[in-house]
Amino acid sequence: MSVSVRDALRMAALYLVLSLLWLLLSEQVLGTFVDDPQTLVRGRHASACLWVVVSAGLIFVSRARLLNFMGIGAQLRREDRERLRMAAAVFDSTLEGVLVTGRDGVIVHVNRAFMRITGYQHDEVLGQRPSKFKSGRHGAEFYQGIYSALSKKDEWSGEIWNRRKSGEIYPQWQTIRAIRDDAGIVSHYVAVFSDISAIKHSERELAYLAHHDPLTDLPNRLLFNDRVEQAISLAKGNKRGCALLLLDLDHFQSINDGLGHTIGDQLLKLVGGRLRDILGSAGTLARLGGDEFAVLLENCQQVGQAAVLAQRVIDQMKEPFAFDEHRLFISASIGISLFPADAQSAEQLLRNADSALFKAKNNGGRACYALYTEELTAHAQHRVETAGELRRALEQEELQVFFQPVHDLSTRRMVGVEALVRWEHPQRGLVSPAEFIPIAERTGMIAEIDAWVLRQACGQMMRWQAQGRALEFVAVNISSRLFGHRELYEQVAAVLHATGMDPALLELEVTESAIMEEPEVALEQLHRLRGLGLRLAIDDFGTGYSSLLRLKLLPVQKLKIDQGFVAGLPTDEDDIAIVRVIIALAHSMNMQVHAEGIEQAEQANLLLEQHCQLGQGYWFGRPVPSEQLRWD
Ligand code: C2E
Ligand code: MG
Ligand code: MG
Repeated sequence: MSVSVRDALRMAALYLVLSLLWLLLSEQVLGTFVDDPQTLVRGRHASACLWVVVSAGLIFVSRARLLNFMGIGAQLRREDRERLRMAAAVFDSTLEGVLVTGRDGVIVHVNRAFMRITGYQHDEVLGQRPSKFKSGRHGAEFYQGIYSALSKKDEWSGEIWNRRKSGEIYPQWQTIRAIRDDAGIVSHYVAVFSDISAIKHSERELAYLAHHDPLTDLPNRLLFNDRVEQAISLAKGNKRGCALLLLDLDHFQSINDGLGHTIGDQLLKLVGGRLRDILGSAGTLARLGGDEFAVLLENCQQVGQAAVLAQRVIDQMKEPFAFDEHRLFISASIGISLFPADAQSAEQLLRNADSALFKAKNNGGRACYALYTEELTAHAQHRVETAGELRRALEQEELQVFFQPVHDLSTRRMVGVEALVRWEHPQRGLVSPAEFIPIAERTGMIAEIDAWVLRQACGQMMRWQAQGRALEFVAVNISSRLFGHRELYEQVAAVLHATGMDPALLELEVTESAIMEEPEVALEQLHRLRGLGLRLAIDDFGTGYSSLLRLKLLPVQKLKIDQGFVAGLPTDEDDIAIVRVIIALAHSMNMQVHAEGIEQAEQANLLLEQHCQLGQGYWFGRPVPSEQLRWD
């Protein structure tokens, strides 16, 4: 309790005693003059009232006098004044707006920050009520909550939207406190608030950034997942369907590698814009990352609807993308999954669309779409089974290595062989590597398989050498999955060491796409392998979107023209032109050219005319077990 209150109470007690004495005395005095008891009662009331009024006045007057007399009053007034001055200075210079009302809710004071935040001047608000600033954003219940908190706890704080003089509404963080006087009765309410519109704005910006891709300004994976979840729960309620289209650009990496990331980014932006135009308001478009976009079609009843959209996207993607001096062509593959036919949850829908995309990329080449269906599920199950069996095959030596001859096109002599793996399945017979190599790649078994083939091939080559059957090389395929791994180098070195084979007799074939997937890693790996003294060839050349600039840097001795181009010879004009260009390119870089898939004499002749040195194909001989190779 403060000094002044204690003093006041002491004085009040003193006057209470005095007043009682006075009452007794006056009763005595009045009693002697008034005999009528009624008059006596009225007289007592009147005198009591009078006393209360007089004594209250006296208490305060004498308290002040007394304190003054004691010298404390002046000191207190000085302290009070100082405190008041300090409070006023704080009150006026604080950045928080302050508004004070009386207990009746009428504004009695505002500070400078209040005027700055709200735009109102003193005289425009004094005597008014705070309801003047209502934004209309909150209902009656909200304000009711404030009143009830104030009456229960004397305090309320929270976010409240108000309106400035300009009419703009804005959020403020506000604390309201009830001020009680010495008697415990509310005398004022003080509201202190800060304008949090800037914080809100950055919160909104942050939320936007967290949910959007900064490059294309499209929703990102997080927001997209959210939308898919919402769409599914809505579709469940309405008994409707929705479709998810997952779109991936074909060979986008080669644009990034060949032209740089800035151009790649610009292209992604344009692709996003074009997709937005195609889609309009038909669905939600998002960029999930890299070159992967997704479309959510809500209310999609039929597969046909999604397929038609997919085809439209694929067709319109074929138009070139032009910016600055560039005209770029890019195609897209699309996987489609449907709710409720293919999946029951958002996660499953996305996963299945991804499987469908995988199918689109693998089955139909590029620029096509695929649906996720039961059949695809069966396909996946088959893959899992095959993987299990493949493991057993490796352990039980069901794998074999076949050799296909490679001929010098001018002398027609067999100069080398390519080792090709075969799987003799106990029930299914010979399984094509085209079927099991991708499975081995996905499960990681490819490392073991390639190492095994390499050992067999080198071992066989050593036996041929010992028999005096001179071949210039044995070629072994290396999976793109192994290409980035350091262990490849160690494996190759170990096999060469173990078999004692001259490294110059070994040729490693790497597909063009494996090199172009990660050109920096590839370059390093190729140099390391080349350091072992072996030869390097790029397999399936012409299908991997090589950057010529990079090609020139690669320590590679041979290009193998993909059999797809050879198949069109000698009639298809385009294939002839492509084969010619590849041969010229190889010569210009001092590389050998090797054509694969030669099935007719005319093809071999045309290739020779174009100065292709080496040829391989059924016309020369199919892949066969080592003992069946013809040596004439
Ligand atoms: P590749 O390395 O381009 O091998 C050439 C493929 O073309 C072989 O198919 C071969 O049998 C086939 N071929 C050869 N001449 C002709 C022809 O005149 N006409 C036609 N239509 N085809 C011909 P294969 O043996 O089925 O191998 C397919 C692919 O599997 C290979 O393509 C290679 O990429 C991969 N592969 C094969 N063996 C291995 C291996 O040991 N390790 C790895 N990582 N991949 C392998
Ligand atoms: Mg090959
Ligand atoms: Mg090939």
